[in-house]
Amino acid sequence: MVTPILFARYPDAPSLAAADPDGLEEIIHSTGFFRSKARNLIGMAQAVMGPFGGEVPTRREDLVTLPGVGRKTANVVRTVAFELPGLPVDTHVGRLALRLGLTTETDPVKVELELNRLIPRREHGAFSLRLILHGRRTCVARSPRCGECGLADFCPSVTGGSTSTRAR
Ligand code: SF4
Repeated sequence: MVTPILFARYPDAPSLAAADPDGLEEIIHSTGFFRSKARNLIGMAQAVMGPFGGEVPTRREDLVTLPGVGRKTANVVRTVAFELPGLPVDTHVGRLALRLGLTTETDPVKVELELNRLIPRREHGAFSLRLILHGRRTCVARSPRCGECGLADFCPSVTGGSTSTRAR
């Protein structure tokens, strides 16, 4: 909701790097934690303009050096902006991976690495997005709507089956 005015006001890294913090905070105020986000946005743009010569880096290990960018965001940027492999693990992906029996891990990085082994590289981003959308619409956190879920016939949370049972 804030991006139309944000991107209109700061259409590129140089303008964002030179942004007035107060003006930026005003635009992103409704998103919460607006002070630290504004600080990170300006810092991120300055880092892009500095060490990275004005180009957003594509390597995960470079992306995570940018202020405010962690592994999840780096994976989002890789898959959405560059169409490179990246499997963002947010709360939905973590919850569904557990419920579907794809992992026993709860740490997001471990979940990502396990899913990476199961899913073809070219599908990483799309798979993450599918889990996110399914988690928002059907497999919601408190009361999953298993009765209307297309995965119910092999989901171990419903069938009680093991991973090998599901795989058949
Ligand atoms: S069957 Fe239920 S627990 Fe399994 S994925 Fe669907 S909504 Fe989630």
